[in-house]
Amino acid sequence: MSDNEIRTDHFRVKPGHQVRLDDWSTHSTDGFEGTKEDRAALLASLNEQLGDLQQTLYAESKHKVLIVLQGMDSSGKDGTIKHVFRTVNPLGVQVANFKRPNEVELAHDYLWRVHQQAPRNGHITIFNRSHYEDVLVVRVNDLVPAHVWHRRYEHIRSFEQMLADEGTTIIKLFLHISKDEQRARLQERLDNPAKHWKFEHGDIAERAHWDAYTEAYEQAIGETSTDHAPWYIIPGDHKWYRNLVVSQLLVATLEALDMHYPEPIDGIADIRITD
Ligand code: AMP
Ligand code: MG
Repeated sequence: MSDNEIRTDHFRVKPGHQVRLDDWSTHSTDGFEGTKEDRAALLASLNEQLGDLQQTLYAESKHKVLIVLQGMDSSGKDGTIKHVFRTVNPLGVQVANFKRPNEVELAHDYLWRVHQQAPRNGHITIFNRSHYEDVLVVRVNDLVPAHVWHRRYEHIRSFEQMLADEGTTIIKLFLHISKDEQRARLQERLDNPAKHWKFEHGDIAERAHWDAYTEAYEQAIGETSTDHAPWYIIPGDHKWYRNLVVSQLLVATLEALDMHYPEPIDGIADIRITD
């Protein structure tokens, strides 16, 4: 395998930074030079490491990890989950999909359904969309008045601070694709019968709001990237590179937890199973 040093810290949004998405690459492949086989080998090796780390996380049952996945339609949220989490044990990993809120959810505050899905000790939870929709789709489609979504940044910062204070490691990933790449991916959903199920009329309507979504994302990311819940803006046009960056980031995040298998029970060496 050739040299690869993907610097994941390059994609981290510093607290207080004003985000302009145009300044962040959608197509970078920085730090990786290699063949298709090299990419596959590196992903397989990262998959393996992630699987081992997750096993320790589950066994130790001390830390909880929350991964927030956001991005425009077709940015690769589902694909990232499929490829990055290939080797984890489903016993300790949950995916929470946040769709349009149902009647009961709408009758509560917007964080109600979200908090219930936050990870428990030993678990990784992936939010496939999240509470951020409440300052994104909700803002772009005027589902609540501006003063209502505007105050939500503060709620979200406090909510995430509370989760972090109570022992949750949080990382937030914005999968950043270009508008051209989105066109190609939506077209593929129309052209490929195996992808028809993914296409909704709403996708075209939402695409027409590209600029409004860009603005909403820029503000959401800028307002809520903190040391305890940082945002990463991941170049998403090349799926293989996105998978490598996300995998590397997760491996580094879990390694930093310095996890260990729990101590065995007293006298374990002397116990024999006799029949
Ligand atoms: P998908 O990710 O393609 O399965 O679509 C889920 C849809 O649910 C997207 O169009 C989201 O914008 C929408 N959605 C998620 N959360 C909310 C929310 N809080 N309010 C309104 N729509 C939402
Ligand atoms: Mg969709």
